[in-house]
Amino acid sequence: MDRRARPADSGNTLTTRDPAVDAPITTVPRGGASEIDAAVDAARGAFEGEWGALDHTERADRLLAWAAELRDHADELARLESLDTGKPEAFAAAEIDEGIGYIEYYAYLLHGDTDDRVPVGEDTHAYNRAEPYGVAGLVVPWNYPVLLTSWRLGPVLAAGNAVVLKPAESTPLTTTRLAQLAAGILPDGALNVVHGLGDEAGAALTSHPGVDKLSFTGEDSTGELVMGAAAENITPVTLELGGKSPFVVFPDADVEAAAATAAEGIFYNVGQSCDALSRTLVHEDIHAEFLDHFLDAAAEWSVGDPLDEGTTVGPLSSEQQYEKVRDYVEIGRDGGADLVQGGAGLDGPGWFHEPTIFDGVDNDSRLAQEEVFGPVAAVIEFGDYAEAIALANDVDYGLAAAVATTDLSLAHRAAADIKAGTVWVNDYARFAPGLAFGGYKRSGIGRECGAEALDEYRQTKTVAINLN
Ligand code: NAD
Repeated sequence: MDRRARPADSGNTLTTRDPAVDAPITTVPRGGASEIDAAVDAARGAFEGEWGALDHTERADRLLAWAAELRDHADELARLESLDTGKPEAFAAAEIDEGIGYIEYYAYLLHGDTDDRVPVGEDTHAYNRAEPYGVAGLVVPWNYPVLLTSWRLGPVLAAGNAVVLKPAESTPLTTTRLAQLAAGILPDGALNVVHGLGDEAGAALTSHPGVDKLSFTGEDSTGELVMGAAAENITPVTLELGGKSPFVVFPDADVEAAAATAAEGIFYNVGQSCDALSRTLVHEDIHAEFLDHFLDAAAEWSVGDPLDEGTTVGPLSSEQQYEKVRDYVEIGRDGGADLVQGGAGLDGPGWFHEPTIFDGVDNDSRLAQEEVFGPVAAVIEFGDYAEAIALANDVDYGLAAAVATTDLSLAHRAAADIKAGTVWVNDYARFAPGLAFGGYKRSGIGRECGAEALDEYRQTKTVAINLN
């Protein structure tokens, strides 16, 4: 692929750009309400037709065949993902491998799926049947296109729903390929992708009366709009929203290892992760030692061309994201925090930014409370356990958290006291298909991943048969 090809833009298309060189890659159709209508109709047709008629085993077989096809094209998907998002190609490859694993997991889960028999008396045979909703509408963001899409498509399709998916407008490439590679494996209409802007195709999908279940992943402010639109039709909605995750480093922690975790937690994917460890809460006794190690660990994250093997920090995903990060660096400086590492954008082309650390951050400041979605760490000191937990929880979000300690009792206690959907101990981003993921507070409603995500996309029918 010529990275500098410059296709023409028009009112009916959207141009996707390579953020590493700030140049167009290609265009995709710009769908709106009528394309969403057509996609919902196609999904309904598949649900009431061939796709809906498949039993558990047949659906599992189709999903495994699709996953195998995706594995055969994993290198191509990784290259597309890297070009479209700017993430280092090796990271993209790992995320794609992981994403396909989620689709396989839900296929295997179907084999062990049973309807529950409920004992209500010898003269009654009663059970709960898990049934798909019908047509599921999915809206996803641009930060992990394949991984986040697989997290949703695995359980949604395994549950038996047909899908209309709206990817983020800035990262359409891999989602298009996922759907193309399903052709001939999933029946026509089972998986539909409509590209378009959020307030056009996105709004049309989330307000569509023909959609039976919605799953939205994105900013909490957009989540409010989606929930409002869903309320009009009483459509159940799963929301995966933003985060401002704390990393609590207790005084007994392995400080050097904790610093490495802190760096990974904020610099992986240039900080464009919903679960990024963007607030580093450090005990005052180890603060100076921790900071030394954190600066060293940050220096190991190497900014460069995403297609170069040694690169671990690519560009921010778009100019808009770059400008947002620049604004927050100013907000940090103006708020009186100490800039101790980085802080600068790099000369273009491309939207590169230095890994950045602010020390002495006030937890009430905008830098500590708002989602930057960039490589900007905020270090905050605490004096004792109660203060650490109060600071960790003193934020509107509750998606994830991490703690560093060598004391197992303290680890369990902190994990119970922190209000977040996931707590990692001496680790960051430990994901696996069997582990649920989702938010407390403004970080969302419902859970993705894990066995429970299958039930997020199906409803229970109770059947009671009088045996007399
Ligand atoms: P965004 O809310 O701007 O957009 C997300 C998606 O929603 C895009 O596809 C967009 O086109 C669409 N959209 C925008 N307006 C819409 C509307 N009115 N109706 C329907 N759809 C609309 O978010 P973003 O900037 O693309 O993504 C970053 C955000 O996503 C961050 O807040 C991040 O924390 C969050 N996120 C959360 C998770 C999670 O699992 N909790 C995972 C990844 C990202």
